[in-house]
Amino acid sequence: MTNAEDITRLRRAKTEEIVAKYQKITPPIIPAVGNREKPRLTVDFGSSPIELILERDELYMSAALELAALASELGEVPVGALIVRGSNIIAADFNGRETVKSALYHAETAAIASACSVLGGWRLPGCELFVTLEPCVMCAGAIVSARIPRVVYGASDPKAGAYGGKFDLRDAGLNHTPTVIPGIKGEEASRQLRNFFTERRR
Ligand SMILES: [Zn+2]
Repeated sequence: MTNAEDITRLRRAKTEEIVAKYQKITPPIIPAVGNREKPRLTVDFGSSPIELILERDELYMSAALELAALASELGEVPVGALIVRGSNIIAADFNGRETVKSALYHAETAAIASACSVLGGWRLPGCELFVTLEPCVMCAGAIVSARIPRVVYGASDPKAGAYGGKFDLRDAGLNHTPTVIPGIKGEEASRQLRNFFTERRR
């Protein structure tokens, strides 16, 4: 049986591998379609400017899904999260309730804690949080506390989601309300969670 230090080392090493891989990728650019809120880039080719969208959300959600897959390898409910500022992944983590043995170790709270130590403060201005599952009330609270301006998530959580799944913390009139983008690679994230629970029942 591995001890706590080994688990922490293993978690960190695997997380760093994924971060290193995604840090090298430039987000693909595709023509803008639909009106979903996304970072936009207008390119003027001379006669008519073309609006393009940076497929950043999908790219970083793919990284979060890979982190979530690590969680399920370790017997954790697959939830992965990363915090990005501009084109830098400044923190990444995945659910660790079982392996770290802490109720507070959700993917988001863990990523927020390490982003705070990377940036050297409790505020995370200009940062985006990408997470595979709709944040719960604890994590949505941490997002407010850290003043994270933008949250992108995959699957909705009708049992505990704090951005409309179960209730909506944005309606509480708090001093900070993030912009929330739901459903990015949502089907993949849901499938990953379903597979985990099906496997576990066997
Ligand atoms: Zn949570």
